[in-house]
Amino acid sequence: MTHSSSDVIIIGGGPSGVAAAIAMRKAGVGKITLLEREQHLGGATRHCSHSPFGMLEFGRVYIGSAYGKRLEMEAERYDIDVRYGHSVASLGEDGRLLVSSHTGLETLAAKRVLVTTGVRETTRAARMVTGDRPVGVVTTGSLQSYVAFHNLMPFRRPVIVGSELVTLSAIWTCLSHGARPVAVLEPGPHALVGAPLNWFPSMMGIPFHRNAEIIDILGAGRVESVKIKRGDVIETLECDGVLFSGQFTPEASLFQTSGLNVNWGSGGPAVDQDGRCENPIYFAAGNVLRAVETGGWAFREGRSVGMAIASDILGDVSGTAPVKVTYDQPIKLVVPNLIRSGTSLPGGLKDFQLRFARYAKGTLFLTVDGREVWQRRGTWHPEKRITVTRPDKTRSAENIHFGFRGEG
Ligand SMILES: Cc1cc2nc3c(=O)[nH]c(=O)nc-3n(C[C@H](O)[C@H](O)[C@H](O)COP(=O)(O)OP(=O)(O)OC[C@H]3O[C@@H](n4cnc5c(N)ncnc54)[C@H](O)[C@@H]3O)c2cc1C
Repeated sequence: MTHSSSDVIIIGGGPSGVAAAIAMRKAGVGKITLLEREQHLGGATRHCSHSPFGMLEFGRVYIGSAYGKRLEMEAERYDIDVRYGHSVASLGEDGRLLVSSHTGLETLAAKRVLVTTGVRETTRAARMVTGDRPVGVVTTGSLQSYVAFHNLMPFRRPVIVGSELVTLSAIWTCLSHGARPVAVLEPGPHALVGAPLNWFPSMMGIPFHRNAEIIDILGAGRVESVKIKRGDVIETLECDGVLFSGQFTPEASLFQTSGLNVNWGSGGPAVDQDGRCENPIYFAAGNVLRAVETGGWAFREGRSVGMAIASDILGDVSGTAPVKVTYDQPIKLVVPNLIRSGTSLPGGLKDFQLRFARYAKGTLFLTVDGREVWQRRGTWHPEKRITVTRPDKTRSAENIHFGFRGEG
């Protein structure tokens, strides 16, 4: 087992990891090593054979695969030490990482470690959908990698489950590769994307059923049909595949297995306003913080947290014990969910980001040390991004709480 050290190690070469590396290099950080388990940079964007990616960060629109290549060019241009085929197996409390690659296991160490490992979609097994085990049950991510990297289409008439932004990507991938979805099913009462995007299935002539879920998958060898429950009615849909889209969760297993704190609301690492974890060696950015944002958002977040790390490592800052941000139901998550007092770093997470767990009508409010400092009334949708500018006084507060006064 070998051992080498860097100023900063970044785990994950999606938009947030690459953006952070560039920001740190521009700020003068010396040795930056980026570890990526795949053979290319780009992360989840590489699978997407559609646009739009890159408008805000590069001033032009790319399809996902071309965007990944642009990230590789940028990493080369800024002389980042990218190590492909390197998968991180565990995080040590002292910043030592156990890394697996074709050469075997090695320990790498750094003064700071940034984790940008993204998200994963919830598979059939994790959704606990019963039935036979035929071929043809996939997530959007795996469908898109079959299509993009192996020119394989696993079905022609799938049923699609979900109604998030990624579901549109799933429908688009089907339609542009010779498959015609039989139906789109949303278990909840409303589509999770707003108008006009929620009209997309109907515009394409695909039935969109709300309050509908799969209760059985049938097929010997291949998928032949699914039983669905729509309200109180059970019916059978003939199809040759099932595509589970969305329900993303942060790829935070490294935190869970290494004993570093996870924020159970978001499922990602607990971080402060600089993107720093409770263990001050570790930082996190991009989708691993919370499911799920766009590529452009992940890039900008990576860049901001990269700036904060650069400033930290170049000696501007000291860390203090953080205060936990608390919240009421039906708020699902708040990021950052820790606040440290002390010097303000450039970059970091300027706003609080929130999500609701379910539809709710009423007033969302923020109290700092018992005083209400912000409020907004509205109808709140699950999975919809909510941002609240973080008041400066939170940096010296002992109690920071998001509350909710429901109506009806
Ligand atoms: C199907 C789909 C369609 C999408 N369509 C769009 C779109 O049209 N427009 C848009 O803006 N966004 C889109 N997105 C969202 C966009 O892809 C993400 O927001 C963005 O990729 C997130 O970037 P990230 O850097 O946080 O994580 P990711 O891009 O997920 O990158 C994480 C990286 O970490 C690596 N990694 C994970 N664990 C380890 C480990 N232990 N060791 C080493 N490496 C590791 C992974 O291999 C991966 O490369 C889509 C996403 C999906 C899944």
